[in-house]
Amino acid sequence: MNTENIRVRFAPSPTGYLHVGGARTALFNYLFAKAAGGKFLLRIEDTDRTRFQEDSLNEIFESLKWLGLDWDEGASVGGDFGPYVQSERLTLYKEHAEKLLADGSAYKCFCTSERLEQVRKEKELRKEQHGGYDRKCRDLSAEEVNENIDSGMPYVVRLKAPLDGSISFEDMIRGIIETPVNMVDDTVLLKTDGFPTYHLASVVDDHFMKISHVMRGDEWIASTPRHVLLYKAFGWEMPVFAHLPVILSPTGGKLSKRKGAASVMDYKKAGYLPEALFNFLTLLGWNPGDDREIMTVSEIIASFSAKKISSKPAVFDEQKLEWMNGQYMETYPAEKLAEEVIPLWRERGLSVDDTEYAAGVVRLLQVRSKRVTELAETADYFFKDPTGYDEKQAGKQLKEAVKPALDKLTAELPAIKWEREDIEGTIDSVAASLEMSAGKIKPALRLAVTGVGGGPDLLDMLLHLGKDCSVRRIKNASDYIG
Ligand code: GLU
Repeated sequence: MNTENIRVRFAPSPTGYLHVGGARTALFNYLFAKAAGGKFLLRIEDTDRTRFQEDSLNEIFESLKWLGLDWDEGASVGGDFGPYVQSERLTLYKEHAEKLLADGSAYKCFCTSERLEQVRKEKELRKEQHGGYDRKCRDLSAEEVNENIDSGMPYVVRLKAPLDGSISFEDMIRGIIETPVNMVDDTVLLKTDGFPTYHLASVVDDHFMKISHVMRGDEWIASTPRHVLLYKAFGWEMPVFAHLPVILSPTGGKLSKRKGAASVMDYKKAGYLPEALFNFLTLLGWNPGDDREIMTVSEIIASFSAKKISSKPAVFDEQKLEWMNGQYMETYPAEKLAEEVIPLWRERGLSVDDTEYAAGVVRLLQVRSKRVTELAETADYFFKDPTGYDEKQAGKQLKEAVKPALDKLTAELPAIKWEREDIEGTIDSVAASLEMSAGKIKPALRLAVTGVGGGPDLLDMLLHLGKDCSVRRIKNASDYIG
């Protein structure tokens, strides 16, 4: 196949937020398209009206954009094969169901949901392994069908699945997958409300949107034989199927939305960077063939190949994600990080008006913060004087013995040039004049300026806080001692 003709799609149902498993599917489609110079589409599968959630669409768009997964064609951006929202394509599905009815590949089924439930229960009692529909309406005569319709009985349209043999397809990741026909019942294509089922709609759309590869989560493997039957019934060429490996939670079991897998936006709120989450998700079922882990988007695209997608389960290891995020935090452009963290500082009630100063704070703290939220929570002293001191630390550092040093510094520092050597020289000379070691004074200074101890290099902090602020805080600490 000409690689420009590679067209893949991410086809979420707007039934809630975009969780990280769904994002991994979108990401692999995106990478596959980008690596091949193909197109990445976004299609909204909203035919299940009972599970539709109004605000879900925006959340999906927002999450994909935040991760950097821009789509070339599809919902909200348009393209030649739209509309890309299934509820706007109902006529097309109906026409295609009619086609299958007309050529005998499908039939109308009038069974009520009570009857279907009964059939299911009976099969269960007989311990029949495959509890599908018993095909009661498959061979109704034309008269019977017409009578039912005349009397206003609602019906669904079902596909006539073959009664013997097996259905097979080649999965790009897993090889040939063969399914005995007794695993596939007569799939409903059109529901009583005239809406298509997922199966009909997705096959019709994949065909008309010229999708070359269907890459999706492995939970859809069981549906694919039905899709194969549909392609055959329509006489259409099949796309290549690729079912991505399951993602397990570290505590075991499948990571799923129903089990509370976090949404992409939850990770944003928790202070993760989109580049880090992107990088992390990339490695859930794929690797570049060497031991590289931290990779830029272009490096990933350059080495992405579907051949290296594994069929083995991937584990969503939060600790690894946090480590990876820390790696990104260290080298992230400070100005860009400042844009993320300034609103969070403001939410904490800090007044941040100088963005250059704020970027300087980021430069000092980004190496020691694993997440944006951590950066947000550990910088208060850069924006306001401490209102008290950590008690345990104060007991150790702010003692009588250190007061003369603090007083001398308060007196001498205002006169010096506010440069590293000059500050350090003054601390050293004050220490020497009092026959103390500078190592005794520095922890007290650190507590004086931060209130909590810790933080970056002392001189870096003093330089960034500026002379007036530093002197004021040193004096405050001396006053605290008494
Ligand atoms: N709408 C399906 C979902 O929500 C898409 C499955 C597919 O990609 O075919 O996951």
